[in-house]
Amino acid sequence: MTGVVIIGGGHAGFQCIDSLRKGGYTGPITLIDADPHLPYQRPPLSKGYLLEGAAPDTLLFRTATYYSEQSVELHLGVAATAIDRDNRSVTLSNGVRLSYDQLVLAPGASIRPLKVPDEIAGQVHYIKTLGDIDRISAQLSNAQDLVVVGGGFIGLEFAATACKLGKKVSVLVRGTGLMNQNVTPELSQFMLEQHRAHGADIQLNTSIETVSRLDDGSFEILTTDGRTLSCDMLVAGIGVTPDTRLAEAAGLECDDGIIVDAQCRTSDPVIYAAGDAVSFAHPLADRPIRIESVQNAVDQAKVIAATICGEQAEYDSVPWFWSDQYEFKLQMAGLHAGYDRVVQRGATESGKFTLFLYRGDKLIAVHTVNKPADHMAARKLLAAGVSPSFAEAADESLKLNGLLKR
Ligand code: NAP
Repeated sequence: MTGVVIIGGGHAGFQCIDSLRKGGYTGPITLIDADPHLPYQRPPLSKGYLLEGAAPDTLLFRTATYYSEQSVELHLGVAATAIDRDNRSVTLSNGVRLSYDQLVLAPGASIRPLKVPDEIAGQVHYIKTLGDIDRISAQLSNAQDLVVVGGGFIGLEFAATACKLGKKVSVLVRGTGLMNQNVTPELSQFMLEQHRAHGADIQLNTSIETVSRLDDGSFEILTTDGRTLSCDMLVAGIGVTPDTRLAEAAGLECDDGIIVDAQCRTSDPVIYAAGDAVSFAHPLADRPIRIESVQNAVDQAKVIAATICGEQAEYDSVPWFWSDQYEFKLQMAGLHAGYDRVVQRGATESGKFTLFLYRGDKLIAVHTVNKPADHMAARKLLAAGVSPSFAEAADESLKLNGLLKR
């Protein structure tokens, strides 16, 4: 028995290990990750970890003892370079070849690089790994003026953290609003006002036209709308692309992600895939989707582990994710594509409100700001397919959990 080999030590990779062992799997488990650290949590990287300057160990899912106690063989700091499906083996960058009975692909996504001249490219910071944050932290104490490119989660979480650290922050957003793909215009506008109130200079409908490095190491940026900015650090969060390289090279079916079925199986029945790199048919979506979130990675990994352990499992969890920016916890549940009505509960000015997103009279997503109880209830409503009437959604006195019982 050669056991389970897992490529990728992010949330999906770690969860797969943990769920396999908790599910009673006693065979060999091997984890491969190009990152040299033991598997660690990613969400704090752009927020608390950077803000508080915590030690890397605080991010670890488990210490080294766990992996030895669970008999997990670790190959860290080495990349998987090829999959040989005929011989069921994986080749690593150090020449090692590992055989598998089942292979789990959890490669995540690759940073989309900012288009800048080659001599600048190496100076642009991105936020994906502990190494990225360590490089940012090392420079941040000597930097005062920062330019952030991208109005998505990474850019905004980093901007909020940098503002809290007393930095002067400009954010260049190419679209008409913040987090455009992921939240409603109402929530986008609310957060725009909060960022500006906290001192961030948010510029919409703009990006970098040219950038040059001056003799003192600072950057001079000409924006597409004709402004000139100078900064000590340039940070980009302009999205990611699914890392399908190994899967494609191995001939697995891919289309904006590694295609998997409800058990998270790829087109090869002994190869599974989970996380940001995976494209799948979700019961709440009318076309294949890819979800870049911790929940998705964790829940898909649990399905894979259960399937390998011989259980009946299907991935149909209600998607949810969150973002912390300043004192605001944004929580999004469901899939909001195609919504045609928003019903609000709670006043925007209170800084605590819930947006119910409907398609027709069907509730399809719920976005909350500092309303964790509504978020938890919304996940249950969405899972049960219960749609409150518009009046019920707007009525703050009505407990959402109560609607589950009818
Ligand atoms: P993101 O949330 O997808 O946002 C990317 C942003 O960059 C969008 O505002 C997008 O604008 C913009 N953009 C794309 N291409 C651009 C270009 N060429 N020039 C300028 N702007 C461009 O991605 P992210 O913020 O980079 O985060 C990376 C990954 O980490 C994602 O998987 C994200 O989900 C994950 N993450 C999640 C959380 C969370 O769930 N709380 C937090 C941090 C990171 P348009 O809207 O116009 O396309």
